[in-house]
Amino acid sequence: MKYIIYILALSALIACDNKYEACNDLLSPCAGSQDGEYCLFGYKWGEDADFAPNGLEAIGPASAGGLITYSFQTDNRKISIHNRHKQKTLSFDEKGSCARTEVRNALQEYEAIANLTFIEQEDNALSDIQFFVLNDDKPNVGNVNFQDELCSDISGYVIFNNKHITSCHNFFILALHEVGHALGLGHVSTPNIMKTGGDKYSFDGLQAGDIQGIISIYGEK
Ligand SMILES: [Zn+2]
Repeated sequence: MKYIIYILALSALIACDNKYEACNDLLSPCAGSQDGEYCLFGYKWGEDADFAPNGLEAIGPASAGGLITYSFQTDNRKISIHNRHKQKTLSFDEKGSCARTEVRNALQEYEAIANLTFIEQEDNALSDIQFFVLNDDKPNVGNVNFQDELCSDISGYVIFNNKHITSCHNFFILALHEVGHALGLGHVSTPNIMKTGGDKYSFDGLQAGDIQGIISIYGEK
């Protein structure tokens, strides 16, 4: 009996740890083949927050993103992401002295081409997009504007790991990539910022496919 209770308690704990993994399934339109110029998750900020069709080179709603607030998180909080539940955050400034500037530059690059406006709020505000540094070295994550309950808890979290920035340029490219996810872009295997792997660090900024994708979601400036 004691063992059964132990197993039940253990499985409850595991279920708890996997709590937000279900949110990954909501992004499945961009799983599988990534051989296209862009992929749309089917979530956006502003009008048509949850849209279809989505997927590889889908034609998005091209509707306004409106005012999207953002803030840097400097308090020690506990946040959840995918299979990592209640993980400790560090101050965003742990990432390095150019990190804020490069995030702002990345946001500006999207703002220059797509119909959306970013507004920075004071540190630790519960903004639409919140930038965190997590106290582990796992992959970086950018969450879309999930509409569904449970996943909406982690909507707009952009999480960087605690590894030191190797260069301000590389962090700018990484920020473009993670913000791309938060705005609704999935991975592709073509030479774009939304490509996985290291090739993208040789780019100066958004590539043709990224631009096509973001305009497909939000329309042109
Ligand atoms: Zn990615």
